[in-house]
Amino acid sequence: MNNFINISREYEMIREKSREKLEQKKLPLYNKYPRLKEIEDDMIKISIDITRAILNKSQDSESLLEHLRKRQMDLKIERAEILSSNNYPIDYLELNYECKNCKDTGYINGIKCNCMIQKEISGLFQQSNLGKKTEDENFDQFRLDYYSDEKDENNYSPRDNMKDIYMKCIRFVQGFDNHNINLLFVGSPGLGKTFLCNSIAKDLLEQGKSVIYQVSSELIDLIRKYKFDFENENNNSSSLNEIYNCDLLIIDDLGTELPTQFSSLAIYNILNKRLFNNKKMIISTNLNTDEIMKNYSERIYSRLFGNFNMYKFYGEDIRLKKR
Ligand SMILES: [Zn+2]
Repeated sequence: MNNFINISREYEMIREKSREKLEQKKLPLYNKYPRLKEIEDDMIKISIDITRAILNKSQDSESLLEHLRKRQMDLKIERAEILSSNNYPIDYLELNYECKNCKDTGYINGIKCNCMIQKEISGLFQQSNLGKKTEDENFDQFRLDYYSDEKDENNYSPRDNMKDIYMKCIRFVQGFDNHNINLLFVGSPGLGKTFLCNSIAKDLLEQGKSVIYQVSSELIDLIRKYKFDFENENNNSSSLNEIYNCDLLIIDDLGTELPTQFSSLAIYNILNKRLFNNKKMIISTNLNTDEIMKNYSERIYSRLFGNFNMYKFYGEDIRLKKR
C-alpha cells in the first residue's frame, strides 16, 4: 500500500511541477503580449459557461453551446496565431506532460498506464537506477573500435561479430511490436553484454514499454523473499507478476544464482510462462553452451536453445581498453 501512496504522490508532484513551469512561462509572455492574458481569462469564463449550459439543459442551451464552442475555437486560433507569429511553438501555453498517454495521471480510462506499471516495477525491483545507468550505456555510446578487427580463418573479426550483434539489437528494438524474438547473449565478462542490455532497455523505456532488468541472482532472491514473506506478498504480488507480464524481461548473468531446486523451478516457470504468452526476454550469461547444459535441466536448456536467438560475444575484455 505504501508503494501505491508513493506512486500517486509522485504523479501529483509531476503534475504540480508542470503546472508551475507553465505559470513561469506565462508571466513574461503576458507582459509582452497582454492580449494572450485576455484570451486566457475569456477561455476560463467560456468553459464555466459551457459547463453551466450543459447542466441547465434549457430549450436554447443547444444553440448557446454551439455559440460558446465556436468562441472557444476562435480564441484558440487567435492564440496560436499570436504565438506562431512571434516564433513560439503553438503549444507553448499548454501543459507539458511527461507521459502524453495518461497526462501524468497514471491511468487511461481506469486502466493502469504503462508509465505507472514501470514506476511500480522500479520500486519493487529497485531498478530506479536503470534510467540513470542508461544515460552512459546506450546505443550512441557503443564503441565498435574497442573490438579487434583481426580476421580469423573465415575472414571474420570480433569487430564484425559485434557489428552484427549491435545491428540485431537495434532491429530488436525498432521492430519490438512486430516480432517474437528472444535474445541469448553468451560470452565471457567484459565484452559488452550488459551494455547492450541497458541500451535496449533505455530505448524501450522511451517508447513507453515496461522493462524489468535484473541480475539473475537478485531476481531469484526477490522471488524467494516475496514467496515466503506473506505479509509482503499481498502488497506486492501484482508487481511481482510483472516478471511474467512486463513487455521485456532482461535477466543478466544467468548462472550467478544459487543452483537450488527453488531457483531452477523459478527460472523454468519464468521461461515457460513468458514463452507461452509470447512475452519477450533477453538473457545474458557468462556460461558457455556446455556449462548451460550441465547446470540446467533439460527442460530449461531446451527452451533456451529452442526459443532464443543465441549470440556469442568474443574478443578481449573491453573494460581494460576503456581505462
Ligand atoms: Zn502514462
